[in-house]
Amino acid sequence: MFRKILIANRGEIALRIQRSCREMGIRTVVAHSEADRDAKYVRLADESVCIGPALSKDSYLNMPAIISAAEVTDSEAIHPGYGFLSENADFAERVEKSGFVFIGPRSETIRQMGNKVYAKHFMKEAGLHVVPGSKSSLPNDPKLILKIADEIGYPIIIKAAGGGGGRGMRVVKTSDTLINSVILTRSEANAAFNNQDVYIEKFLEKPRHIEIQVLSDGNENAIWLGDRDCSTQRRNQKIIEEAPAIGIDRNLINYVGACCVDACKKMRYRGLGTFEFLFENNKFYFIEMNARIQVEHPITELVTGIDLVQEQIKVSSGEHFGIKQSDIKISGHAIECRINAEDPFKFIPHPGYITNWHTPGGPGIRVDSHVFNGYFVPPYYDSMIAKIISYGKTREQAIERMKIGLSEMVVEGILTNIALHRELLQNSNFIKGCTDIHFLENDFLNKRL
Ligand code: ADP
Repeated sequence: MFRKILIANRGEIALRIQRSCREMGIRTVVAHSEADRDAKYVRLADESVCIGPALSKDSYLNMPAIISAAEVTDSEAIHPGYGFLSENADFAERVEKSGFVFIGPRSETIRQMGNKVYAKHFMKEAGLHVVPGSKSSLPNDPKLILKIADEIGYPIIIKAAGGGGGRGMRVVKTSDTLINSVILTRSEANAAFNNQDVYIEKFLEKPRHIEIQVLSDGNENAIWLGDRDCSTQRRNQKIIEEAPAIGIDRNLINYVGACCVDACKKMRYRGLGTFEFLFENNKFYFIEMNARIQVEHPITELVTGIDLVQEQIKVSSGEHFGIKQSDIKISGHAIECRINAEDPFKFIPHPGYITNWHTPGGPGIRVDSHVFNGYFVPPYYDSMIAKIISYGKTREQAIERMKIGLSEMVVEGILTNIALHRELLQNSNFIKGCTDIHFLENDFLNKRL
């Protein structure tokens, strides 16, 4: 097992990784920006290194600075968390070439599955449906693009092949706006992901977002750890997640889970991963794979009783893979509400000083957050400041506990989306369950206004 790990991330996930390391007796080095100098996990770390100014491009995306930090602290492995460089194949390769272990898949796997067009092709071969769409990145010829879209049928969605974080996507309803939209999405994709390749998919009107968590040791051992429903989204970004997904034939989910495991074995996948699907009319359509730890991992931890971060570290260190598929028993129900520093109904970020901060507790409540009283939410990064996770024997109990948790949570000085969560948890459609990805923006918000 590693002696010392460098954490190349910030916020709640930096603290979460650190907690697992401490439990495992691993020393932690936190690589942080100037803006995060006073963070809780920096103070709790065995060592810390400032890797640059506040802007992500100068610090959390600064590959040479992170690798130097690992060198000067004599770290053995680098944990990239989620976001930032976690799915950057070049970074993973540089980490490996510099003699450190990248806590995640091998760089070539990240490169392959990071290309959504390739990933869809791969999963089709593994026996799964994919959303109907272009078979490769779009050509330049407008006539050909129009022909491809016509064959798929409108509405369609243009997506960046190297995209992520709900960005680089555009829905097109008729052929009139198609070519302009392709040009726009291409230039956005180029600016955001340094890859201008885009592809087209059929835009599904009422799907749910269902995903499968996997863990694999880089050889032939792979398991799946149940499913999650992440349909409650705004701007294509998840805001509430649940495990397990309700109202779906378990035989069907078991089949999909087994296909994901086979795919992991085939690519000799190493680490944690998530296969994301849209689920409509009783069919699973693969959309992409996330080759890293997910924000929503705690709900899987609560229903499986497994510490995913610890398992991720263990498989990266080459430790014997001890968990069998038959060991995975899903028990109870878990819900996660992402608490963001943002206007609850307009979704505009709202950084600033937190003048009063109280987090909930009690039976079945877990709070993952790096925030404390007097914390300054910096304007440079993602607006998520906490995750409230509730657990119950049943979904009803998890909902009731979440309502209590949300009622106890106090955040003053900035705007947060707690009010939105409180309303959502009272909504009869949400309580019934099985709402689709457009529920929050189309049904819930429209009715509310
Ligand atoms: P990202 O990597 O940016 O998160 P995804 O491919 O996972 O992108 O898509 C994010 C979200 O966008 C999905 O959860 C879903 O809500 C929506 N979405 C993606 N593809 C489609 C589609 N073909 N039809 C309808 N909605 C889609």
